[in-house]
Amino acid sequence: MSGRAPLDKNELAVTSLRLEGLPVLEAARGAIGWVFETFGDDVAVASSFQDVVLIDLVRKEKADAEIVFLDTHFHFGETLAFVERLRKTWELNLTVTHPTVGPDEFVCGTARCCEVRKVEPLAAALEGKGAWVTGLKRVDTPERTGAPILSFDPARRMVKVNPLATWSDDDVEEYLEEHTLPRHPLTYVGYVSIGCAPTTQPVAEGQHPREGRWAGTGKTECGLHV
Ligand code: SF4
Repeated sequence: MSGRAPLDKNELAVTSLRLEGLPVLEAARGAIGWVFETFGDDVAVASSFQDVVLIDLVRKEKADAEIVFLDTHFHFGETLAFVERLRKTWELNLTVTHPTVGPDEFVCGTARCCEVRKVEPLAAALEGKGAWVTGLKRVDTPERTGAPILSFDPARRMVKVNPLATWSDDDVEEYLEEHTLPRHPLTYVGYVSIGCAPTTQPVAEGQHPREGRWAGTGKTECGLHV
């Protein structure tokens, strides 16, 4: 943790509300600027590398910001190659976490799978931080519609920052185009919301992006945001 005074939760709420009133790009830049100004190096940025808008915004604010990628050992080869390509070309300060269990333990679909491959490794990566930053958007799922830009994450006892909370999928697309950012290779063949290979499918035109995740299981979240 930084040597900063204990967090004032009113200040957090007021700052978040102020950001809510801004155009989406200004809100995102404002949130990212605020978290690094407030917590310095005690910040981790979690990214699935499904798209790289968040990473691009973060690296332009703080080139050596710590980016965390949760390698579940069930990712597509294309995802791992994309992560490595971005790490090299953007010289990212990347932390890759790994599960503490083997591939045959708690396999995909079992209740503990996301916990041991995502939730617990993320908790270890966030140990000692003052804040974490995510790429969560309200449009992702019905459960995310109320997500604030800045909040206190009681489970992890740190600040959670969702700079893209107010963004639409079109806003993401516009930013990717305008900044000619690299794209995950699977987005060219119908994949929109990309997670672990066994639970990710391409979606047809007009389908909600998240319909390609955990299709037919009723599951909508992996536990990182609940
Ligand atoms: S998305 Fe599926 S494979 Fe990936 S960690 Fe969760 S349950 Fe396991």
